[in-house]
Amino acid sequence: MEDKRARDLAVVQSQVIACRRCPRLVAWREGVAQNPPLRYRGQEYWAKPLPGWGDAVAQLFIVGLAPAAHGGNRTGRVFTGDRSGDWLFRALWKAGFANQPLSVGVDDGLQLNNCYIAATARCAPPQNKLLPEEIANCRPYLQRELELMPQTKVILGLGKIGFDAAFDVMRALGRTTWKARPKFSHGAEAQISENVWLLGTYHPSQQNTFTGKLTETMFDTVFARAHEIINSA
Ligand code: SF4
Repeated sequence: MEDKRARDLAVVQSQVIACRRCPRLVAWREGVAQNPPLRYRGQEYWAKPLPGWGDAVAQLFIVGLAPAAHGGNRTGRVFTGDRSGDWLFRALWKAGFANQPLSVGVDDGLQLNNCYIAATARCAPPQNKLLPEEIANCRPYLQRELELMPQTKVILGLGKIGFDAAFDVMRALGRTTWKARPKFSHGAEAQISENVWLLGTYHPSQQNTFTGKLTETMFDTVFARAHEIINSA
């Protein structure tokens, strides 16, 4: 069963990697790779969409916004090689969902425990801003991943866009009786079905972490809560 699940997820992941549905994002993800900043000159960029990654039978499912142009779009793994990832993996490690706090490259030994990470859109957008049609184009991938992972107990949206995208997909899958989206806030918590909680946190982007809008303690508290829900009866 677990092997079949991993195989089915691998099919979705290869479909994601081959996707060129959003012309603006295809041009951006490939264009930034052609002209990297000085610090990354000489590195070969991934420059393709980023599939979800992690434990195929995870109970914690994280939905981010989209890859960073010089983070995941460079390294080829979600949240790997950028400041947002530094925050995310440190928090996951502290809460027991990762075996190490650092994520710098695909061969860095990082493993996720009971955690899977996906995103609202799988290609890096200009100025980290997605168009509504790009969110809609990419939604089937998130939907298929969540469909293949019925054991998910906590879905954590990083930022309002990830939070809303996760809820919309769960509603489309018929896995919630809620008609309206729960209201997003940092620390938002909605039990959207008997077995599934949707949590929200501010996104660990530099815009939030540099300004102190999101502190390490605030972020850690959300992961501690996810851990608590997963371990409750
Ligand atoms: S954002 Fe999603 S739908 Fe658009 S090109 Fe990338 S993978 Fe395809």
